[in-house]
Order: sequence, then structure tokens, then C-alpha cells
Amino acid sequence: MGIQENLTDFLNNLPPNIKLVAVSKTKPAQIILEAFKTGHWVFGENKVQELTDKQVQLPEEIEWHFIGHLQRNKVKFIAPFVALIHAVDSLKLLAEINKQALNNQRVIDCLLQFHIAKESSKFGLDYDKAIELLESDRYKGFKNIRITGVMGMATFTENMTQVRSEFKTLKNYFDNLKKNYFSDSPAFRELSMGMSDDYQVAIEEGSTIIRVGTKIFGER
Ligand SMILES: *Cc1c(COP(=O)(O)O)cnc(C)c1O
Repeated sequence: MGIQENLTDFLNNLPPNIKLVAVSKTKPAQIILEAFKTGHWVFGENKVQELTDKQVQLPEEIEWHFIGHLQRNKVKFIAPFVALIHAVDSLKLLAEINKQALNNQRVIDCLLQFHIAKESSKFGLDYDKAIELLESDRYKGFKNIRITGVMGMATFTENMTQVRSEFKTLKNYFDNLKKNYFSDSPAFRELSMGMSDDYQVAIEEGSTIIRVGTKIFGER
């Protein structure tokens, strides 16, 4: 199947309230353009240079999500146009996003990334660290970022019981944060979880945004 058929098929089988970020990393701009022509406009990239290269070549209507680990010194390159930054895992990064958003007279939507997988990874907050961030005076002064939810990646395993339990943990964090810190913020409503191999489980566990690459664009 071609990319257009693949994408249309995928979307037709998705519950209507789930937002798809089509993860186009490593795929050329031409392929993204083809996908865009089906009427889908939300794409995700995980490298700053690759994203900015593609962004200038492709239609302005594309809603670009940054889904990877973001280095502070690179925030300025995506701040003019990025729609959602999925993987914010420190106060320092959030401060830089706030600064660059202000420079661009924007408010940039962000998700807090949580470490939910068994695999050791440098990236992602644990729950206590997130609370520390949200209770800091510095965070409370940020006017040019908006936290709209949480993001996480499950362990890379075929054991779906484990994956499900990790997604449950993330949903739990989301619910607690909503109740304790964002009860009066309707914008805080996104749970970014689920990739090609586990998006169905993620949806069952309450995902609102899935990030899918391989299932749509083929192997990288
Ligand atoms: C690559 C990537 C995805 C998509 O992975 P697939 O298995 O190809 O669907 C999702 N999220 C993040 C953070 C990624 O880096």
C-alpha cells in the first residue's frame, strides 16, 4: 500500500477522539507532502535539524510536534512554529522554552514527560520531580508556556501486560496532576502515549494522542 492509503486506512480505524501524530522522522519531505495531501496535518519529528529542514520545505498548515529529547540550546530553532513539545523533563528546559516563546510572542504548549518504562533512561520525570517543578516559584512565573498534559513511553517489550501497567501508571499521574494542579485548566487534557506496537493498549488505557511512525510510513 502507498502512504496515502496506509494513512487513510489507519485513521479510519481510529476512534474519533484520538489525535494522531504521524511520526515522519527519517522520511523525506516528499513523502510527508503526499501524506498531507490526504487531509492529515499533524506530524511529529524527534530531531531539531531534521524538523527545521522539513518545516521550510512543507506547507505552513502543517502542525509540527516535537516528540524527542530536546536540548536547551536548540529550543530557539523550533520556537517560532512548533505546536506541541511532548518531552519536557526539566525546569531548566521549560524555562528556555518560556524564554524563546516570549521572543516569538507566542505561548508554546508542552507536555511533561514521565519515565514509566522499566528500561533505564536518562529522560523523563518521576512523579516527585514533577511536583517539585510545578510547585516552584520559577514555574509559576512562566507566562509563555502552557502545560497541556503528560507524555510517556512504555518499555520496548512484547509483554503487553507490562506495557498496560506502565500506561496505567501514566494515566494515574495525569489524573493526580489534573486534580491537584490543573483542576481549573481545561487545556490540561492530553495523555500522549502509544506508538506503532502499543497504541491500541494505550487507547484502552486513556490515551488522547498517539505517536505512530512505522505503522503509517513503513520501516525506517
Ligand atoms: C519514533 C518515535 C515514535 C514512533 O515510533 P513507531 O514505533 O515508529 O511508531 C513515537 N514516539 C517517539 C518519542 C519516537 O521517537
